[in-house]
Parts: sequence; structure tokens; C-alpha cells
Amino acid sequence: MSTQDLSQNRLGFVSLVGAGPGDPDLLTVKGHRVIQQAEVVVYDRLVSEEILALAAKDAEMIYVGKKLDYHCVPQDQINQLLVEKAKQGKNVVRLKGGDSFIFGRGGEELEELADNGIRFEVVPGITAAAGATAYAGIPLTHRDHAQSVQFITGHVQKDGREIEWRALAQSNNTLVFYMGLKQSGYIRDRLLETGLDENMSCAIIENGTRKEQRVFTGPLKDLAAMAKDAVSPSLIVVGNVTSLHDKLKWF
Ligand code: SAH
Repeated sequence: MSTQDLSQNRLGFVSLVGAGPGDPDLLTVKGHRVIQQAEVVVYDRLVSEEILALAAKDAEMIYVGKKLDYHCVPQDQINQLLVEKAKQGKNVVRLKGGDSFIFGRGGEELEELADNGIRFEVVPGITAAAGATAYAGIPLTHRDHAQSVQFITGHVQKDGREIEWRALAQSNNTLVFYMGLKQSGYIRDRLLETGLDENMSCAIIENGTRKEQRVFTGPLKDLAAMAKDAVSPSLIVVGNVTSLHDKLKWF
């Protein structure tokens, strides 16, 4: 290793790793390797025990998980923690559920690292929309049912600008709402108002890819009632593709 490499190493390094939606086997090979090599692992609530167990016995494990409306560690403190550990020369893994760039605030954390001149890499993960629907036998696109798919935050009112409901409400579009359980009544009302049929088929996938996975299906008009029976983490999927669940379910 050259002197330059050594001096760069002393600055530390952060791998932003997506752990996938639940089933630990859905971690990527690269994610697996960097977790094993980490000196510090900073992780969220949705990361499984099996994946955390891949870290070295002497790795420092730091939990910064969040629950809805309750932030264990505020985002700016998480950002600072990553910067601090990297500045100590540590090899840090920042581990998040699903994919870090899809409703995971991965971009914000990397901006902070970039501002502080810290080197990083991004290891993608299987996002809940891909993993949970695969395990529920719901193809996100299908020649007969959907020519497009959109991932939407259910925190519609909280997270900034109102979304363009009219653009979403197309019968050949699949809609996947993250964090949508509490807002399911609002989501249903906006979609009905802007053009979807009240009998458009929908699914809620609870604990997707985990042993406890449950899938609820029904018409859009019943979405809020379906959501009452589901617990977090759950995805709401709206679109004709959800009608394939009965035929294609396998898990
Ligand atoms: N970055 C993550 C999403 C974080 S937001 C990803 O790419 O998957 C958290 C939301 O993701 C939850 O409220 C839920 O809507 C969804 N989610 C995460 N894991 C899930 C799972 N196993 N089953 C269903 N939904 C899940």
C-alpha cells in the first residue's frame, strides 16, 4: 500500500449499505462482505438480527433507529456521528432497511460526508417495493395490467409538497405507498377523487419477505378498513397487478 493510501485510510470510510426488506438472505454479497469488515456499524430499526450478527464480535454496534413520529436519534446527530467515526479513521457501515436511496435519507447522510471530505460508497439493497411484492406474488409491471410503477411516500402531508394525484391515478399504473398505513383513508380519497375506480384492486403487504408476512387484498374503497388490520412495516399497493396475488402467491 502506498503512503497516500495509508493517509487516506486514516480518514476512515463509510459504506452506506441497504440491508433489504427483511429476509436476511436478501442482503447482497457486497453488503455481506463490508458488514464483516466494519469496525463500526450504525443501524436502523428495520435491520434484522441475522444481518447484525454478521458483524465482527468486536465491532462497535450503534442503534439509531426511528419509530413513526418518534425519533430515537435526530437526523443531524446521525450525520454527525458518521462524520465523527470516520474522522477517527474508522471503517464504518451505515446499515438501513431496504435501499438507502428510497425513502431512507441516504442522500442527506452522504451530503454531510461529502461536505466533510469523507470518502464513501453506496451498496444498494432490495427496496421493500421490490422484495415484498416479489414474495407476495405481485409483479410490479405486467403487459396486461401495468405499464408503469411509482413509489410514493405515505407521509404526503408531512414530507413537503403535495403530490400530483391526477398523474398517479391511471388504471395502467402500479402505485406503491411506503409509510402509508396511517394515511390510507386520505390516499383512498385522493385516488377516488382524481379518477381511480372504487373497485380498483389493492393489496397491503405486512412484514414483507419475513416469516410473519401477511397479505390483505380488496377494492380501493375498502383500503382504510384493510389498513386497520395491518401493522407496520406495511406497503400499500394499488393497481390491477394486485389481482394476480391469488394466482401467483408462493411464500
Ligand atoms: N429504505 C426502505 C424504506 C424505508 S421507509 C426501503 O427501501 O425499503 C419505511 C417503510 O418501508 C415502512 O413504513 C413500510 O412502508 C416499508 N417497508 C419496509 N420494510 C418492509 C417490509 N418488510 N414489508 C412491508 N413494507 C416494508
